Amino acid sequence: MEINRCSRCGNFYVSEGNVCPKCSTKDNAEFSTFKSYIQENGFENSINTISNDTGILVKNLNRYLGYQEIQDYQKKLASIDELTNAIEKLENT
Ligand SMILES: [Zn+2]
Repeated sequence: MEINRCSRCGNFYVSEGNVCPKCSTKDNAEFSTFKSYIQENGFENSINTISNDTGILVKNLNRYLGYQEIQDYQKKLASIDELTNAIEKLENT
């Protein structure tokens, strides 16, 4: 049995996930907010700006940024950017 420490409230808990069962509802809601935010605004804004705009604590934002799902999304956006740049170059030649 593995004991984890909740990244939100610091309580110890025994179950899967990054936060304790008590915090998981709020954490999931904030993660959804964060996801819609980056879908609208990309990753251009600083963590502090995102925090101000969404009301999500910087420490939680940093945790979300480490999630595989977010990193995959970030990579996808980066490759779209590269493609767009390549197309622009082609069009300008
Ligand atoms: Zn908690």
